[in-house]
Formats: sequence, structure tokens, C-alpha cells
Amino acid sequence: MEKNGIKVLIVEDNAMNMMLLRDILSIQGYEIIEALTGAEGIRLVAEQSPDIVLMDLHLPGMDGITATRILKADERFRGIPVLAITASASSTDIEEILCRGFDGCVTKPIDMEILLGEVRRFTAGASKDSH
Ligand code: MN
Repeated sequence: MEKNGIKVLIVEDNAMNMMLLRDILSIQGYEIIEALTGAEGIRLVAEQSPDIVLMDLHLPGMDGITATRILKADERFRGIPVLAITASASSTDIEEILCRGFDGCVTKPIDMEILLGEVRRFTAGASKDSH
């Protein structure tokens, strides 16, 4: 599919999950940037200005909650939506994640339609000509 001009940064240390997320999104035309750690994710947000970040919670070193807190504390990056990718499924867990500063949440195992719906919802303002 033609590139849609929307950059998605995936911060995920699990190779299978990374492959799945990359495949689902790249086939829809999204440009994918990959980070394996929270620190690398923060660096790539600064360097690449992604339109959205998908953030795994459990990462080596800094966890996804801390990395997101650092991003949201920086006014340059505050407006970039960050979706938590989490194995937690209960509504209480999801509420807790949202309260921790994420814009949204996608639970594992990843449902392709839910993932794409959330990414579209949070990148609706990002146009093809924005880069
Ligand atoms: Mn992980």
C-alpha cells in the first residue's frame, strides 16, 4: 500500500510483538520507527518526530511508564499521543494505565482492528503533507 506519511514509533523489546506490530502497520502504509528500550524510544522521539508512539510497558532498563512520563513532561513532545501496549486486560488496569499519563491503551494479544482503530483515531489530524 502507498505510504500515508504518518510515522509510528514502536517501543517494544519482544521480537515477535515488534514484528506483528510492524507488519500490521506497514501494510497499511504507516512509516515504522523501531526502538527496543525506553531510552532509545525517547531519543527517537526527539530525532524523528513521530506522529504517535506505541509503548510496551515492560522494557529492559527504564519501563514504558517512566519513558512516557519523561516524554509527557517535555513540552516539545507532550502533544504526541502515546498508546500503552499491555498484557493487562481488566478495565481497572486500563484505567490505571490511562491515569499514568498514556493517551490510550491496546491490550495483548493484539487485535488488529482495535490497534488500527486506535492508531487512526489518534493520528486523525496528521496529514500526508505534514512531513
Ligand atoms: Mn516487553
